[in-house]
Amino acid sequence: MHRRLIVPGVLAASLLLAVPASAADFAPGAPGIGDAYYPASGNGGYDVSHYDLRLTYQPATDLLQGTATLLTTATQNLSRFNLDFGLSVDEVLVNGKKAAFAKSGSQELEITPATPLKQGQSATVVVRYAGKPSSFSVDGYTAWQRTPDGGVAAQEPDSAAWWFPSNDHPLDKATFDVSVSVPDGTQAISNGVLQSQTSKLGWTRYSWRSNKPQATYLTTLAVGRFDITTDTTANGLPIVNAYSKDLGDNAGAARASVERTGEVVDWLSGVFGPYPFNAVGGYVPNVPSGFALETQTRVFYSPRQFARGSNVSVVVHELAHQWYGDSVSVKGWKDIWLNEGFASYSQWLWSEKEGEGTAQELADYVYAVHPADDPFWTVKPGDPGPENQFAGAVYDRGALALQALRNRIGDEDFFAILKGWPAERAYGNASVADFVAYAERVSGERLGPLFDTWLFQPSKPAAGSAPASAASASASARDAGAAAVPVPPKSWKRIAATHSVHGG
Ligand SMILES: [Zn+2]
Repeated sequence: MHRRLIVPGVLAASLLLAVPASAADFAPGAPGIGDAYYPASGNGGYDVSHYDLRLTYQPATDLLQGTATLLTTATQNLSRFNLDFGLSVDEVLVNGKKAAFAKSGSQELEITPATPLKQGQSATVVVRYAGKPSSFSVDGYTAWQRTPDGGVAAQEPDSAAWWFPSNDHPLDKATFDVSVSVPDGTQAISNGVLQSQTSKLGWTRYSWRSNKPQATYLTTLAVGRFDITTDTTANGLPIVNAYSKDLGDNAGAARASVERTGEVVDWLSGVFGPYPFNAVGGYVPNVPSGFALETQTRVFYSPRQFARGSNVSVVVHELAHQWYGDSVSVKGWKDIWLNEGFASYSQWLWSEKEGEGTAQELADYVYAVHPADDPFWTVKPGDPGPENQFAGAVYDRGALALQALRNRIGDEDFFAILKGWPAERAYGNASVADFVAYAERVSGERLGPLFDTWLFQPSKPAAGSAPASAASASASARDAGAAAVPVPPKSWKRIAATHSVHGG
């Protein structure tokens, strides 16, 4: 992952002084949305409600070109505003009139409309562009993966700047129409429902629609040669999965895992409540990376996730994110525990259901396997810092925190919370503090100290506050000696594989 460290306030303030007195009521939007970890992420001054992307992609040359149309509303009087984007821009129109534009920073596109925008005014922004995503990088980092037969955009915390201009932060979610034309014989995979597929003069256009709010980093594009399978879940939800034609020895294990998507979604619906979207599925492109990502309604899996055989646990993790991360998104990236703690805990619940170790046994194992001086305990899942945003502790200690909560308030309240939270915050954003307040409300207990111990202290919680009882902790050890090596539950290898390779 790369880091963007421009301080937006300074830039905005200096430009404000340059505005002539006659236009003093109008100011530039901030070049960042105000994220504590990534100050340049997203932008200020407007909100996007819909993206329409109409693109053409050439697998042979990696040339991506097309038009992005953004439906926006100004949230302040705007003389100028930014989009986040890395490719070359040919033309920008705002409400049908040519707008001036310039690049600044690593991926800021500054747009000055011919007429300033009033607060509350809607503006249709059209950006025509072309470029090779693989040739754009920030500090040597690229989110775009080339494959032998195409390319893939799937990364966290950002990937959008490699293929479309946006307000690139989970706080500004929008609906999407993604339409991509590719040479016949090649497919374009994206989020949601495939609305149409039409061929003409050697090119096939795939038009996908996501009709519920979707964060920019959860919007994905994969072009390549895929085998596509379609089905419906027991609840009637359409499933679309796609597998690169050259997955080699991983092909069988990938299918044996991802083809269980419908079964897993139905099971998760019993835990988290109704599935929040109108489509589901996953795709496995022939990328060299090792991670998986919860791209909305269409999960991204690297083939390496299946190198040691099938892994339904990673499917459970990424589909759990559809509730925890996708429908209910972070307010800021420091709230990442709301995504990873819960997705990891869903794997513990799946393990329990499959008879491969209960959540308590997994909690006992994680607690025992990390001694007090292990740097594991210095990571605070409730505010890990950008450098540790995807550290193993955010996942494992994050799931431990949920077992501690479960033991404190009991199964009835705990599972009411797991199901109630996604309904309470559906399609919105939330912070860790919001969740703590919700858990206190549902349980009627004061939980601040418990969450402080498990999420915000840079040290191993004392045994007395551990979710494990002393007896069960030692039962999971091979012997009672001081140097006892805890025995991992059967499911542990698969669970650990999910996040040991998460992220870039
Ligand atoms: Zn995850």
